[in-house]
Formats: sequence, C-alpha cells, structure tokens
Amino acid sequence: MFGQMQDVPLLMNRILDHAMINHGEREIVSRLVEGNIHRETYADAHLRARKLSQSLQGLGMGQGDVIATLAWNTHRHIEAWYGITGIGGVYHTLNPRLFPEQLVYIINHAEDKMIFTDLTFVPILEAIQDQLTHVKGIIIMTDAAHMPDTSLTHAYCYEDLIDGQNGDFNWVEVDERAPCGMCYTSGTTGNPKGVCYTHRSNVLHTLVGNSADVMGLKSTDSIMPVVPMFHANAWGLALSAPAAGSKIVNPGPNMDGESIYQLLTEEAVTFTAAVPTVWLMLLQHMEANDLKLPVLKDVTIGGSAVPRIMLEKFERDYEVSVKHAWGMTELSPLGTIASFKSGMEDMTFDEQMDIKVKQGRAPYGVEMKITDDDGNELPRDGVAFGHLMVRGPFIVGEYIKGDGGNILDENGFFDTGDVATIDPLGFMQITDRAKDVIKSGGEWISSIEIENVAVAHESVMEAAVIGLAHPKWDERPLLIIVKNEGADVSKEEILSFLEGKIAKWWMPDDVAFVDEIPHTATGKIQKLTLRSQFADYKLPTADSAAE
Ligand code: ADP
Repeated sequence: MFGQMQDVPLLMNRILDHAMINHGEREIVSRLVEGNIHRETYADAHLRARKLSQSLQGLGMGQGDVIATLAWNTHRHIEAWYGITGIGGVYHTLNPRLFPEQLVYIINHAEDKMIFTDLTFVPILEAIQDQLTHVKGIIIMTDAAHMPDTSLTHAYCYEDLIDGQNGDFNWVEVDERAPCGMCYTSGTTGNPKGVCYTHRSNVLHTLVGNSADVMGLKSTDSIMPVVPMFHANAWGLALSAPAAGSKIVNPGPNMDGESIYQLLTEEAVTFTAAVPTVWLMLLQHMEANDLKLPVLKDVTIGGSAVPRIMLEKFERDYEVSVKHAWGMTELSPLGTIASFKSGMEDMTFDEQMDIKVKQGRAPYGVEMKITDDDGNELPRDGVAFGHLMVRGPFIVGEYIKGDGGNILDENGFFDTGDVATIDPLGFMQITDRAKDVIKSGGEWISSIEIENVAVAHESVMEAAVIGLAHPKWDERPLLIIVKNEGADVSKEEILSFLEGKIAKWWMPDDVAFVDEIPHTATGKIQKLTLRSQFADYKLPTADSAAE
C-alpha cells in the first residue's frame, strides 16, 4: 500500500527550473579562460542550457549517453551539466590535472561519447584523441572569435551550437534513479574508480547541503565555488546555489591569491569553499598586502585537513567563520561538517577552535560508524580510532562496472578508507587514510595530527609525515618539511616546537627538509610518492635499535 502524496520525481533539472522561475534575475558571474568577466542571469543560463540540450540531440546524443566536461568553473560548465542531464544524458567531470594516460583510461572506461572542453585543455585532447574509443566529437567552450586552429577532428564551437537553437525544449523526463553524473576518484593506487550519481541522489544531496547546519546557502548569498566542478562536484554548489537562488561567482582558471581576492571583494562574496592550499595562497596574499575581507562571512574548507593555524587566522584576523568539512567523491561528496551545537557559541576561542579543527558532524542523510579490523563497532569516545564507515541515499553503492567488487559491509556501510575518531557529541576527526597511518609498536600514530602541529611553526610552509620501516617498532614517523621562503630552521628547533603538543611516542624520529612535496590531482599530499622517494632513507634511530 502506498500513501497518497504526489510522486514528483527528484530530477536535477527542476533545480534550474526553480532558479529560473523564482530567481531568474540572480547573476552567474564568471572569469573566463578568454580573460574577461562574463555576467548572465539564471534565466539566461536556463535558456542556454535548453539550447544546448537541443544541440546535443542534434549531434545524435540521447538518454543514457555519457558526455564529459574538461573545464574550469564557469557559466558554460554549469550550463553544460544541465544541458547534458536535460536530454537524459550523464555529465562526467574530468580532472585536467590527471596524467594523459589516466584521462584516456577514464574516458574510455566511462564510454564518453562527447567532451566539452575549455580552450586551455584543447592540446591535451589533441594529444590523446586517437586513443579515445567512444568519443564522437569535442565541443570547445568558447565563441567563434576564439576558436583555435585545432587538429581535433569533429570540433564544435560552443557558442555557435547555442546560437543555432531556439530554446523551445522540454527536459527529457527520466526516472529519478536514472544516472545523471559521473566522477572518478583520482586513483592514487591502481586505476581510478568511477562513481555514478543519480538524479535522486543529487537532489537529496542538494537538500542536505543546503540545510542550515551544513552549507545553508540563502538567496541573499553571493557564493564562490573555488573548489572545481571536476573535484567531487564542487561539493554540490552548482546545484545548491540555484536551489537557494544564490548569486554564483566562478573563478574560472585563476585560483591564485590575488585573483581570488579580487573576485571576493568586487563581487561581494559572502560564502566560499575550497581546499586548504587555495586558502594558503589567499592568506599569504592578504598578509603581504595588508588586506581585509569585509564582506565574506563563511568559508567551507575540506578535501584535506584544515591546519589549526589557518582556522585561527580566518576566524581571528579576518572574522570569517570557518566550517571544516569532510567528504569524498563517493559521498557526492559531503560527509560531515563542523558546525556548532547548542552552547558552543559561548565557549572560549580556543575551545571553539578545538571543535572546528575536527571534520565535524554527520548531517541527516549520512550514517556513520567506526570499526576495528574485524568490523566491530568502536566506541564514540573521541579516543578510539578505527575505519570510518558510512551509509546513506547519496553514498556510493558500487563502483562503475562493478570495479572493486562488493564495497559495502553486511549492513550496507561503505568503507571510506579513512581512519577516524568520533566523540560523544558526534564530532568526527580524521586521523589518517588507512594506508597512511603509521603503525608503531602495535599502536597507530596519526600523521595528519603531527602535520597540523608542524605547519603552525612560522618557518614551515608545508609538512608531511610518513612511516618508515624500523627494526624495533615496525614503523616510525619521518617529518618532511618545505620551509617558507627565506626561512632558516633546524631539525632540533622543529622537534622542540612539537614537544608537548603531541604524544611523546609520536615524536618524529627525524626531520627531512625538501624543496617540494608532491601533490595528487586533487591537491592532496602524495604519500605514496613520498614513501618511494624516502624508501632508502635511514632513520637515525634505526641503527641503535638494531644493535
Ligand atoms: P580523491 O580521492 O580523488 O583525491 P576526494 O575528494 O574524493 O578525491 O578524496 C576524499 C578523501 O580526501 C577522503 O577520503 C579523505 O581522506 C580526504 N579528505 C577530505 N576532506 C578531508 C578533511 N577535511 N580532512 C582530512 N581529510 C580529508
């Protein structure tokens, strides 16, 4: 027996319909690859997305076809998502920072039929086009005046495609469980694995993302998604902003401190989101030029752990409220967010920072538990750490084409590959990736926690901790540091700075100074590469222990 409410399917394109009808005048502002700032409204975007749907059908695309995007955050990228899903197609974001071989693998594995690309990435596609098995055409996201001289066969000009249509088009109705989007994890080990979102999962994720304790966007907000749409769906902002009617400010390809600062101030941005490395550049730019952030109210930071020093600078020096978030491609991507519970507003600054440095609480829609190696649930005491497992309607059930086999436990929880604690109030804190955790004398050492303390030293720009083999303890931590420009600091000074801030037995056995720490395509420290770089490195404690 069913209840008697309207069974309106949860379709992603209805979000843009809502924005057009109720917030048609609200702007989408974009810094373009061509260099200029472009402005349009939600009404414009809605019309242009419908024209794009018409063009895609004209090019032979239809329901279920996977159409990739290789693009920065701009109005065209947003239009492309809705234009693709509007014909019942599936948008597939490609990360341009991946190696060409990985791109070829992903494009062929997903069976992409067409690719939208920014001008910037035309050379990448020219180099790999012969290896693409299903691609029938490339749409270059520019106007006729900027069309490049290209060796791409079947290249189309985005603005010409739009100009050729009248927009008299109704979105193709599909089942809410039909596929609508795809994103591959960056695959630091083995081949990348694909996640396929449904209309329903995207819409539910949007509702949760827009709840007050999560990102809580409002129609009065001007939001800047610095996190790229090709990185875990820009944390859902291309859907949650139109759902709320917020103005969108797209940074395009320029993510340096100066460009971000300029858009934040000129476009009166109230909310923004990105990974810590972007904010490091912005903070450096503002400190060097003695700048303030008078309008910005909220910044959501995730993708990697937020160093406490960054949190404190935003909150104290710039009066911007930081929400630390954790998520992953497999979660659409929002998993937790560190927003206060009752009474926390009255705590001291330091107590508040102790809470905000954690990755946060699960919103309704995400169930979370930590388990030991045998799958037994561990206590929520803020001390025990174990495998972080999650379940919910916008969390992956299986990878594309069944890669990796069954990825859920017997209760339907997905193993995130992260290791975490959960405290009695429900705040989760990531201590490591399971594969990065340092196992010393049968106990686990959190590399992230040591890194966070180390970057608070004034001479340290970036820090990474890896476990190296040790004859007595199995593994011991090595702290790897990139110094700030012109800074001079010794191993002893770093170690004495750590003293008292971390457990004694967590103290790194050595400190190595390097010019650069390698990063993955999504801006995370590449520990696998570091471990192979330091494979022959001998810890000073190893000799004495072996004797
Ligand atoms: P990829 O795996 O392709 O780099 P994801 O964004 O999906 O891209 O990566 C998800 C992983 O990033 C998480 O499993 C976790 O290890 C890490 N991560 C995300 N947010 C945080 C955070 N706030 N603190 C620590 N780690 C984080």
